[in-house]
Amino acid sequence: MRLDISTMSVMVSAASILQSITLIFFFFLTRKYQGIGIYTIGTLLSALGFLLFPIRPLLSNPLIALNLRFLGNLLITYAQILYTVGIIKFLNKKPPSFFFIALASVCLVIQVYFVYIKNDFIIRNMGIIFTSIISYCWAIYFLIKFREKSLYASSVFICISFIFNIIFLLFRAIMLPLTNTKALLESNSVNITTIWSIFLFDYLRNTGFIMMITQRLYHDVNQLATLDFLTNTFNRRAMQQYLEHEIARFNRSQIPFSLIMLDVDYFKLINDTYGHDRGDLVLKHLTTILKENLRSQDLLSRWGGEEFLILLPQTNLQEAFLLANRLRTTVEENPANEGLIYYTISLGVGTFTQEYNGALTPLLIAIDQALYQAKQNGRNQVIKASNC
Ligand code: GH3
Ligand code: MG
Ligand code: MG
Repeated sequence: MRLDISTMSVMVSAASILQSITLIFFFFLTRKYQGIGIYTIGTLLSALGFLLFPIRPLLSNPLIALNLRFLGNLLITYAQILYTVGIIKFLNKKPPSFFFIALASVCLVIQVYFVYIKNDFIIRNMGIIFTSIISYCWAIYFLIKFREKSLYASSVFICISFIFNIIFLLFRAIMLPLTNTKALLESNSVNITTIWSIFLFDYLRNTGFIMMITQRLYHDVNQLATLDFLTNTFNRRAMQQYLEHEIARFNRSQIPFSLIMLDVDYFKLINDTYGHDRGDLVLKHLTTILKENLRSQDLLSRWGGEEFLILLPQTNLQEAFLLANRLRTTVEENPANEGLIYYTISLGVGTFTQEYNGALTPLLIAIDQALYQAKQNGRNQVIKASNC
């Protein structure tokens, strides 16, 4: 197979442009996410840079050819910095701007000196190689330090592709002087492998970045679909699903789980007295107290207006009753709105056992009746479901 660098260089450029079209699409689709625009500018600079290489030998004017060499090198180097800045911004972090400006300035000086003053292909290339490595290291550092659970797969993907890219760049840094390469357009094995690797790593990094955007989109949409807007607890639909999972688990393991249904006492009066906004604050305050007092495996949902349903996996009736009472007293002792609004809650608790024959509705009805009973008995109390 006879490969020539010019054609390969055009291919790298074309691939970058094609991938940037996808990125531009995501840029407009997800305007609230940061960093996509900067990253995309990186891919376009790189595309332009690789397009300049094959143009150079076609030019008769040596000064223009020299300028294009300078410009091409600079575009490709700056593209590497922009990828990292884009990734850092996408993670909603502040990039070390001063460092990158300094790095970009050093690159500029290296390219000016070793293109125009002392023509040295190896040192010019070392400038590009080490800028790329430093820039990738920053990206890896931010991806690991500020890792987001929801972006796990794509972050690992990008990190691995950066690590292999760095290994390859180090290999090139060693091989360039050893093979005494004088120009990128020389069709020797080091240059051909380099262009192949750029093609491959550009593709992997861009794919990884698109995966990150997709993962974040999925995460955000999933949040919207499963979380209650006001209290940030699960909404009723999400809780229904968790309850179904829990019943499936019960059918396999026979380990009981419990439910607590709770409702704010005289909430209408709170709204009428303090206004609807303060009423909302009370709901948020209640949510905070509940979250603080639940275990990590417990799930809290807003079941209706001022009514919450708590799922307690692997919990029997007595444990659930004790927890419910603790929640009740904690709420009673901690008024909302900086200690101004006192309020209480009533709770019904029940446990899922074999007698429900795998159906949840009878248990929900039973704890709803227990809650009703708590209200009837004067509120601010816990009642166990009668058939538990
Ligand atoms: P009880 O002790 O019997 O539970 O009496 P209550 O006043 O709490 O019960 P009721 O069902 O009469 O009133 C519930 C009120 O909750 C009525 C409704 O306007 C209010 N509410 C429902 N959702 C929200 C919300 O998101 N924010 C606010 N501020 N109020 C809400
Ligand atoms: Mg109420
Ligand atoms: Mg109610």
